[in-house]
Parts: sequence; structure tokens; C-alpha cells
Amino acid sequence: MYVCGPTVYDVPHIGHGRFVLVFDVLRRYLEFLGLEVRYVSNVTDIDDKIIARANDEGRPPEAVAQQYEAVWWEAVDALGVKRPSETPHATAYVAAMVALVADLVERGAAYDTADGVYLSVAAVDGYGLLAHQSLDSLLSGARVEPGEQKRSPADFALWKKAKAGEPAWPSPWGPGRPGWHTECVVMSLDLLGEGFDVHGGGIDLAFPHHENERAQAVALGRHFARHWVHNGFVEVGGEKMSKSLGNFTSLTDLLERTDGRAYRLLVLRSHYRSPVEVTPRTIADAEEALARLDALAWRFGLPTGDPGTDLAAARAEGVDADALDRFLSAMDDDLDTPGAMAGVFELVRRANATADAGDEAEGRLLARSAQVLAGALGLAMAPRDSEVDEESAALVARRDAARAAKDWALADELRAALAGRGWVVEDGPEGTRLHR
Ligand SMILES: [Zn+2]
Repeated sequence: MYVCGPTVYDVPHIGHGRFVLVFDVLRRYLEFLGLEVRYVSNVTDIDDKIIARANDEGRPPEAVAQQYEAVWWEAVDALGVKRPSETPHATAYVAAMVALVADLVERGAAYDTADGVYLSVAAVDGYGLLAHQSLDSLLSGARVEPGEQKRSPADFALWKKAKAGEPAWPSPWGPGRPGWHTECVVMSLDLLGEGFDVHGGGIDLAFPHHENERAQAVALGRHFARHWVHNGFVEVGGEKMSKSLGNFTSLTDLLERTDGRAYRLLVLRSHYRSPVEVTPRTIADAEEALARLDALAWRFGLPTGDPGTDLAAARAEGVDADALDRFLSAMDDDLDTPGAMAGVFELVRRANATADAGDEAEGRLLARSAQVLAGALGLAMAPRDSEVDEESAALVARRDAARAAKDWALADELRAALAGRGWVVEDGPEGTRLHR
């Protein structure tokens, strides 16, 4: 799998969190089935936006890229996303990109101009495949922007010649830097080889980024990705989006206010190609469902954390066969994670009901089945956290007092304060309960 990674010039936004979760789920599911997955995801550490930020802040572009790459991995780790097998960096691949551009120029598919080297898309069979449009329709109404030297509006830059003060690498066309579309085609073919299985990214990358990656491979006569997978957008509440209404401003902000597993659960409950709404309300719903999963592990004394079980082990262990078959059919049907999760929560309900009716052993087996299937999608159950610090305990006491006084605004404020300290807050008959 090759999944387009981040350009490291700012804190990650919530949409970044969705794509890393969607492809982590796909990867984990393939591994659950017993496949070996090599997962490559690049880091774009040289780009116009990085240069602009570096200039604004009066520091070198490398310092900007290093700072935001560290922030990136911190957020990815907090989401419980497995690190890629390889994370190639653009700056380490410049020589390979120059060689690829030179090959395209030699074949007559690309041409040199005063401001850069461009790919001529007219030379590419099937250009517009990922846009689901013909080249003629892509060209209608399009025009070359002032200052660009390309011959046709659909042509795109493979090499950008350096302006004064910009970071630059040597090339046969003078100092400059590679275009972003060239980065991914070079890295994916280099690390995964021709005809690799899956190329993924957000739907916003399908055109022009992925179209242009594919165009270069086609112009070189090389087999590219066999399957394209694009995930849908994240919506954050449209016009109502504002800090004062509690909307999340970035992935980092979201992760300071909730458990990363709650975002995974929310993502799993939407089909990967559909939009997902990330608001305080949808996150609170996910937290509530997560609390039901965790409570199941505590009730039956299941070992918590990643169950690390694959399909063969799940069958050998006696995971509920009907539930397992339904889970596999849902996931094999274009990753129907909402269907798969509905099956997990049905197991949760049955486990509790069965134990309530007195069959503890059967209840435990159903609970363990729910745990294995949730774990196959990267959703682990967390241990009960007995270590409630003094400040959190004080907030709990104030919140219980506020609830007793029916001061719901204050109770909500204190819930947010506890969430900010990393707690999932539940209301039980005995008052506020906390877990991580
Ligand atoms: Zn890419």
C-alpha cells in the first residue's frame, strides 16, 4: 500500500486524522486476514507552504519541517495508528526525481520552459481516468495562469526552477525543486515496484494529484497502482464552526479533548467513502459507545490492549462463528465498517444479556468475540484506570455537586475540563465515573 502522507508545515487537521485511520483500518484488516502488508507513506518535507512559513518566521525550512513532523507522529501515535513500514522523505529522493523527469523529457512527454519542466498530458493515454472526465472536458474553460510557461492548462510542473532565496537542488534544467506529483510516483515505484496493490489518500487527492502521479507512470510505460482507494471528507459543523461553540480546531486539539479511540470509533461508524461529521456531539456519542466496550472488558475481566489476534487464531479460539462470518462479509463488501461495528455492538449486547441471565461462561465468550473483532479494526479496550489524580478527583466532586444542584452548564464545563485531562466521563447512578 502507498498512502500519500502529510506536508509538514502546520499542525495536522481533523481530515488528516481520518485518512490515517481509514488506511490503518484497511491495513489491520488485511493483516487480520493473514496477509503481509508493506505500508509506505511519504513525508513531504519540502514544499511552497514550508518555504513560506520558514520565510515568515525567519528560520530554515528544515526547522519548520522537523518541528511539524514531530507533531504529526505524536498525533498519529495518539490515534493508535500503526507506523508505516517505510516513511520516505521528499528531500532524500530529489536525485531519483530528477532522473525520472529527465526520462520523461527524453521520451518527449515533458518539456523545459523558463519557469520549469512540465508534463504534456496530451501524450498520456486515458488522462482524466481518476477525475472521471475526458481531457477535452478538463480543458474546457481552463486557462494557463499568468506567469506560467506551460503549453496547455492541463499540463503540470515536474520541476520548478528556483527563485532567489528558495532552497534548490541541481538539475539538467538549472537549480530548482521537484513538483509534489513527482515525489509520490518515484517513491511508490521505488519502494513497492510496478503494479503495487493499493494507492490511497483523501478524495481531494484523486484529482489532480493522483491523476498526475498516474500520468507520469503511464508516460514512462510503467504499471502503476492496481487499486485506488479514496476516503471521504470530514465535516465539522458547517457555518456553526467556531471555537466558542466547542468545535475542534485541529487534530491536536481534538486529541487533547478526547481519547483517540473515540475518533477511530466515529470513523468506523461511517463508510470510508462517505463524509463524516466531527463535532462535540458526534464525539460524545462515540465516547459513550467506547465506554460500553471498555465496561465489557472490565465486567468479564478480559485482558485489555490490542488483542493482536488474526483470523486463524480467532477461529481456533472459538470466536462466535456466525458473528465472525457476518463481520468478514461486511468488511469484504468494500469495507463496510458501519456494518462490521453494528455486529460488534450486537455482541456486546448479547454478552451482557447472556451473563445477566446467568450464563457467565457464554457471556464471556461473546464478550471476547466482540473484543477480537473490534481489535481487528484497531479498536482496543482500555483498562480501568484506578489512578485518578487529586485534581481530577476534585473536578469530579465539583461536578457531582453541580449535577445535584441541577447546574447543567457548570456540569458540562467540568466534563470538558476532565476530558481535557484525558478522561472519558460517564454518568453512573453513583455519580461521575472516569476512565482513560
Ligand atoms: Zn501523493
